[in-house]
This record gives sequence, C-alpha cells and structure tokens, in this order.
Amino acid sequence: MKTPKYHPETLSVRAGSEATEFGENSEALFLNSSFRFKNAAQAAARFGGTEPGNIYSRFTNPTVTMFQNKLAALEGAEQCVATSSGMSAILACVMGLCSAGDHIVASRSIFGTSVQLFSNILKRWGLEVSFVSLTHPEEWTAAVNSKTKLFFVETPSNPLTEVCDIRVLADIAHQAGAYLVVDNCFCTPAIQKPLTLGADIIIHSATKYIDGQGRCLGGAVLGSKELMEPVYGFLRTAGVTMSAFNAWVFLKGLETLYVRMEAHSSKALALATWLEAQPQVTRVYYPGLASHPQHALAMQQQLSGGGIVSFEVKAKAGQSQQEAAWALIDATKLISITANLGDAKSTITHPASTTHSRVTQEARTAAGIGDSLVRIAVGLEHVEDLIADLQVLSQA
Ligand SMILES: *Cc1c(COP(=O)(O)O)cnc(C)c1O
Repeated sequence: MKTPKYHPETLSVRAGSEATEFGENSEALFLNSSFRFKNAAQAAARFGGTEPGNIYSRFTNPTVTMFQNKLAALEGAEQCVATSSGMSAILACVMGLCSAGDHIVASRSIFGTSVQLFSNILKRWGLEVSFVSLTHPEEWTAAVNSKTKLFFVETPSNPLTEVCDIRVLADIAHQAGAYLVVDNCFCTPAIQKPLTLGADIIIHSATKYIDGQGRCLGGAVLGSKELMEPVYGFLRTAGVTMSAFNAWVFLKGLETLYVRMEAHSSKALALATWLEAQPQVTRVYYPGLASHPQHALAMQQQLSGGGIVSFEVKAKAGQSQQEAAWALIDATKLISITANLGDAKSTITHPASTTHSRVTQEARTAAGIGDSLVRIAVGLEHVEDLIADLQVLSQA
C-alpha cells in the first residue's frame, strides 16, 4: 500500500491531476474515442503493451485515468478500475475474479440490485451465493466451502445502518483463501478506509457521494495491481466503461468530498438526535448515536456516522404502519421524495415499498425492514429547515 506524503484532504484536491501543454489548472475533459499514434511502430508498441499510453477510450482515456488515480490515492489502493455504474463495478469484480462453480458469501443486507445480480443473473452462470448475517461472523465461517472466492459486504448497511467488523471478516475470508470485498459507497474514503482494515477489494457507486450532486452514474473497483488485472481485462473486453464526461464530473466531486462528508455527517447526527426525542418516532438507526447497537465499533472503524438516518414512525389509532410512514413522507415540502442518496439535496424514502419491494415480505421482516421504516439521506441544507419539514413527528 502507498504511503501518501500529503493529508487525505490535499490528495482529494491534488492527486491524479495532470495537465496538458496548455497548463490548465482544472483537469481537462478528453471527449474523444480514439488516440493517434506517431507512426505504425508506435501503434504496434501501444497495442503490444510495450509502450504505455492511450489507445481507445473503452479502456484508456486521460480523464478517466485521472479519476482512477485520484480515487486510488484516497482509498490507499494500488489500482482503480472505473466503470459505467456501481452495478457494473460489482459485475466486473465478479467476472474478473470468479469462474463458474465458484462460491460467494454475501451479507443479506446489501443493496437490493446487488442481491438480484447475485441470485438471478450470476447464478445462471454457475456462481453459488450464500447470504448470511452482516453482524454474525460465525455465520460467515459456517458458510465457507472449498470453492469460496469472495466475501461481499456493505457497512453500514442500507437502510438499517448495521455495522460489521471489517477486520474480523477479513481474517475469516483469508483463512478460507477468499478475498473480502467491501462496497464503501455509504462512507467513501473520507469516513472509512476498508483496505487499512484488511479488506482486499473496494467497490464504489460513484453515483452517490463521489458525485455528490446527483448528476452522473459511475462506479469503481479498487485493490492490488494483481487483483485488478483481471477486472481491468474484463472491462477492456466487455466495455462496462465509465464515460469521460462522467469521470470529469466525479473528478470535480472528489475535490470537495472531505468537506461534504463532514457536513453530511454532522447534519445527520443533529437530525438523528432530534428524531430520537420525538413522540412520533419509535426508533432511530444511526451509527453516530450512542443508542446504536454497534456504536463503539462504528466509531472505531469510521471517522463519523455518515449521512444516512433511518427511523420508525409511530402509527396513530386506525392507521397502518405503512400509512403512518407514507403520511410523514407526503407531509414534507422541502426534502425530495426519491430513493437516491449522496446528493446535496436531502432525500426521503420508504424502503419497504420502494428499494426493498422486490424482496418478499417475509425476508423484509427477517431483515428488520418494517412498514414503519423511513430512510433519510441527509443533504447539505440547514438542519433546522430539515427539522421543520418533519414537524409532524413532534406532535404528541
Ligand atoms: C446505488 C448503489 C449501488 C449501485 O450503484 P449504481 O451506480 O446505481 O449502479 C451499489 N451499492 C450501493 C451500496 C449503492 O447504494
């Protein structure tokens, strides 16, 4: 792992940056598909890999390269492979590192579409997946078999913000000869650096906090050069490429990542603290609260609690739990009703009927995602305006 000479905030602004002969101070957008060679010999050398340099934007583009190098510096990774979305980052990771017959152990509390990818699509190609509890390491040990290649987690989880001990799972994975993959989308390197805790691979949906303003889709896979080689090989051939325009937006997003994540976290903590004191709220889920079951662990492996707060709304007499949750959502005027997160604009969503509606009621209940649960991804507005938008919760 590289030891950077600068502080992370400085790296987020400066790392990976390269200028052309024009000396531009803000990174240039290379919106072109192919690159010219000086002569036939150079073309052959580039294709043969004996001379480094750009060839074609499906797998080499200077703007995308700058984004990859900046994110790699922030995560402390040897290499970053940028992809067209967070989902294609997961796909590239699995296609690069697994073969038919291999086995993956994944947390039950991962992004709904990731569950679909594993259970409905990759299963058809001969991959076996076992889903286990994020917070019970003994289930991971029990699920391992001789074909286990990857462990896959998100911490904190969505929407209940459960936290796992990354180091403990990394040790179990390594004893089994497997790699630990952490989807670090909720924290970003500004809050949590899984590679320093023993994880082998990091996944990002750049769509969320790396963009930070809800504009573009993108993703990334990070790890050692050795592990990223087959992942990059898959991308080069299959073309799940990040567009240069999106890479340029994400490069700008990364420059403000540290100040934004600090603000998201402090506003989320203030909102969670307020929510906990409201008569119409029965429970709040936020790792930064002392009442969170894994608060101590979260504060040890994260710099702060992050921007996601979930809570349960109390149903009034004659009202179902879903009606209570929907009534709160419909009473908001400022917060956006959308399932996205990581935006400057705060968003509110009802997981049971949206992001987790493809999961059976039974599985939802087992996972603790009840009909009364509401998730807020806290943006960058003033927290008093967010509280004012949720005032119905304060009525006795
Ligand atoms: C959104 C999200 C993804 C998928 O990312 P896309 O960019 O939407 O493809 C994966 N993991 C987590 C945790 C996410 O929140």
